[in-house]
Amino acid sequence: TANATWTASTTWLTVRARAHTRTHTHNLPDLCQTCRCFVGVASSRQLSNLCSFPPVPPVGHCHPDVVQAGAEQMGTLNTNARFLHDNLVLYAQRLQATLPPALSVCYFVNSGSEANDLALRLARNFTGHDDIITLENAYHGHVSSLIDISPYKHHQLPDAELRPSVHVAPSPDVYRGRYRADHPDPAAAYADDVRELIDRAHEKGRKIAAFIAESLQSCGGQVVPPAGYFQQVAAHVRRAGGVVIADEVQVGFGRVGSHFWAFQLQGADFVPDIVTMGKPIGNGHPMSCVVTTAEVAQAFASSGMEYFNTFGGNPVSCAIGLAVLDVIGKEDLQGNAVRVGQHLSDLLEALKRKHPLIGDVRGRGLFIGVELVKDRLTLTPATAEAQEVIYKLKEEKILLSADGPHRNVLKFKPPMCFTPEDAELVAAKLDPVLTELEEVLGLKPLDVPNVGKDRSKRTLSDEHQQHHDGIGAPRPASAPKRIRKETNSGITPASD
Ligand code: PMP
Repeated sequence: TANATWTASTTWLTVRARAHTRTHTHNLPDLCQTCRCFVGVASSRQLSNLCSFPPVPPVGHCHPDVVQAGAEQMGTLNTNARFLHDNLVLYAQRLQATLPPALSVCYFVNSGSEANDLALRLARNFTGHDDIITLENAYHGHVSSLIDISPYKHHQLPDAELRPSVHVAPSPDVYRGRYRADHPDPAAAYADDVRELIDRAHEKGRKIAAFIAESLQSCGGQVVPPAGYFQQVAAHVRRAGGVVIADEVQVGFGRVGSHFWAFQLQGADFVPDIVTMGKPIGNGHPMSCVVTTAEVAQAFASSGMEYFNTFGGNPVSCAIGLAVLDVIGKEDLQGNAVRVGQHLSDLLEALKRKHPLIGDVRGRGLFIGVELVKDRLTLTPATAEAQEVIYKLKEEKILLSADGPHRNVLKFKPPMCFTPEDAELVAAKLDPVLTELEEVLGLKPLDVPNVGKDRSKRTLSDEHQQHHDGIGAPRPASAPKRIRKETNSGITPASD
């Protein structure tokens, strides 16, 4: 099985999953961070933190308050959206209180894709226009209307043609993009590209309904747009009669630490016309929301076409959503995202000073990207090396994934209850893996910082270790001296 692990980790995951089913009864209250089965260890939330993607369970897996809220409401009443229930109103009020006052109308739906699809409908209805501006490498969802505006998916079909109603603006990536950190005003330069795109669309007689972007690009490579970018884009788009949609499906709910919503990082003078939310909203329970202004909502209501969604805003989902907001507040998870996010960034920056393979460390709070390059001048993407890091960390029971157009950006978006010890463990495990890869590539270490102690003994209990040792494939005895060719780590890398 060691060889199987080595050459085909997808098979390995399947084998492990089967082994778990055979050997464990799933009635204990703790989660294993490797395969998310239940095991009898002390702290499920701590252990399960070590899954560093996707940003779905912000308050930690199976948080008892969230489980209880959902179970109680399920045991009381669940209805479809034809019936009003207090939970819906209470949740809308709580959500609204986190947003600028202009964003005052909520539509409850069930997935990020539903939210973005509805956002496009709202925009088209309000503006009377059809065209959408999206960003290079963007992903906004799996339904037809969103695949059309998700260039991220089109990399897999290089010959696929975009519809004439879709316009793709450069990703505002100051590390690898067309205007970089040394540009005097990258925000204005990238926003000017959007203005030019609008001008070209107008020349063809087309009209812009919306500009849609994640407040920080996730699948696109954990990109942090330069400050002021969205304000300037919004000015160009609104002048053309369009609206701005902020996709907060991955980055919302306090993950960026300093703010509850990532669009707020740009400053109080930027308020999108529509905000979409998903993934973390229900801590794993499927629910999502679109929030917009009274004007946009009024136009939709008076269009004559009723909007109906059977499950959107049902009492169970809203009870869960309320519990998630309660826990984020009660446990100061936003503050934790600031503190632990900074700690993790510092540790990763220290690794960058030592490891030439790390080209860039970027992000906000607990949304961090580490871009691996073979050469810091040419920025040649270290794609296979990123996959190798993922494999090796998986052997250490740490789940990480890579993203970006070259799949060379390691993404760190753990549950927001991530601890300093978790951060230190990840950094300590990453360090030797990078050293080993650099030896293979012939890259020399740069500096030798203290990257934190390996606290694995504190976070992985012996019992849990035995659990894995007993059922998993044995680890290779010695370190690999070559880099795997496979690009599939056995963990779906895309779109999360
Ligand atoms: N927007 C973004 C930014 C996403 O990352 C995703 C999912 N990865 C979606 C929308 C679609 O969400 P869902 O998969 O819940 O439909």
